[in-house]
Amino acid sequence: CGVFGILAPGEAVAKLTYFGLFALQHRGQESAGIAVLDGDRLTMHKDMGLVSQVFDEALLNELQGQLAVGHTRYSTTGSSRKVNAQPVVSRTRLGPVVLAHNGNLVNAAQLREELLAREHTLLATTDSEEIVHAIGEAVDDGKGWVEGTVHALKRCRGAFSLVIGTPAGLMGTRDANGVRPLVIGTLKGRYVLASETCALSIIGAKYLRDVEPGELVFITESGLESHHWAKPEPRMCIFEMIYFARPDSRVNAESLYTYRERLGEILAQEAPVEADVVIPVPDSGTPAAIGYARASGILFQQGLIKNHYVGRTFIQPTQTMREAGIKMKLNPLPDVIEGKRIVIVDDSIVRGTTSRKIVQALRDSGAREVHMRISSPPVTHPCFYGIDTDSQDQLIAATKSVDEIARHIEVDSLAYLSVEGMLKATRTDGQGFCTACFTGDYPIPIPDAIRRTKLV
Ligand code: 5GP
Ligand code: SF4
Ligand code: MG
Repeated sequence: CGVFGILAPGEAVAKLTYFGLFALQHRGQESAGIAVLDGDRLTMHKDMGLVSQVFDEALLNELQGQLAVGHTRYSTTGSSRKVNAQPVVSRTRLGPVVLAHNGNLVNAAQLREELLAREHTLLATTDSEEIVHAIGEAVDDGKGWVEGTVHALKRCRGAFSLVIGTPAGLMGTRDANGVRPLVIGTLKGRYVLASETCALSIIGAKYLRDVEPGELVFITESGLESHHWAKPEPRMCIFEMIYFARPDSRVNAESLYTYRERLGEILAQEAPVEADVVIPVPDSGTPAAIGYARASGILFQQGLIKNHYVGRTFIQPTQTMREAGIKMKLNPLPDVIEGKRIVIVDDSIVRGTTSRKIVQALRDSGAREVHMRISSPPVTHPCFYGIDTDSQDQLIAATKSVDEIARHIEVDSLAYLSVEGMLKATRTDGQGFCTACFTGDYPIPIPDAIRRTKLV
């Protein structure tokens, strides 16, 4: 998911949030929402669809206030329905609290039972609603906003980057492992919170720093207060670095574009091949392909053209079209492909279905040889911390060896980046990352009941 928040009296906060969410659209395409607080008066609009489908100018004009919180949803828990759209709200003795969540709790079931036992009505089926109710409960028990929020956070296990709006100010916080990103920006002396720095650039805000793992920032008109509520043990999601976040975002001040190019360079050293042309699977494979081409000295060309307008809400193609392959999204360019020995570079293979179709399309366009290079290690384990990977039995690398995968997707050769290569390419030499989907080394313990839902 994508989260965004701003406190800026006198500015059009809903409109700024709209543009922030627009830049975070890649983090979730199912639903979008903006909540605005004018003192303790709450106005909110949320619905299914893309940011540009959910909002128009007239709606944004109705969202008046000093503080705004926004969300784009990508479901990891709870079904894809309007009732699960965010921000989520709780009414407290101190006024409303609105919350936008990116991540996934691993103790959601337990938290839900505890809240229901205290007669909370939970409308949604998401862990995010539980967090906002836990905050509401603590505040109604007599705690202040920061104290109450910290109390609620300590009941949560898992991954959570949160933006929280209250009549007293705006809060941003990350779990002790800082699995999901959250950054602070400044705009004309005001503070902005966003999942990624690309949402700061789009509104002209400057990147100040990341919210630290286990930190809560409380932003009021008098400035920014920092509270360290949990001992930080950084385990940033490395899949954000490799694939999920936008390449024009920075994580821990590191450019993801540059990181991905470096992955491609290391991949070229680890898995060289004689070929005529390096082609990316756009857009996610492009930086790594540029790095691979540079390090190998092989020509870089675009051989697959992407149609950027194919979204998740796209009308399903006919069976005849489906049989014709994936060409609606990626169309091969025979001019580049015909008669060539091709290195095709992508960021990851999850199920292997896309990769198989791409290889087929390259062969249909006359490729002489197809060598696939992947700028991450094999995905062998599911994610429980907010990336919607399939259950383990759907992950092709969980059950097949690299050779078997190569046969399945019908390439002449296949190679993945090593775990060492992936870690070496970070500026911290791999310190402070979650790598569980590549290694099975889960930094946050997962209760058995949850583990069984995805792990075989
Ligand atoms: P596959 O061959 O596994 O079917 O697809 C691999 C492609 O899926 C890669 O191009 C990669 O960029 C993309 N991908 C990787 N992770 C995810 C994900 O979590 N969600 C979606 N929609 N695509 C992903
Ligand atoms: Fe990221 Fe993979 Fe860890 Fe999930 S399991 S947080 S996708 S590195
Ligand atoms: Mg891709």
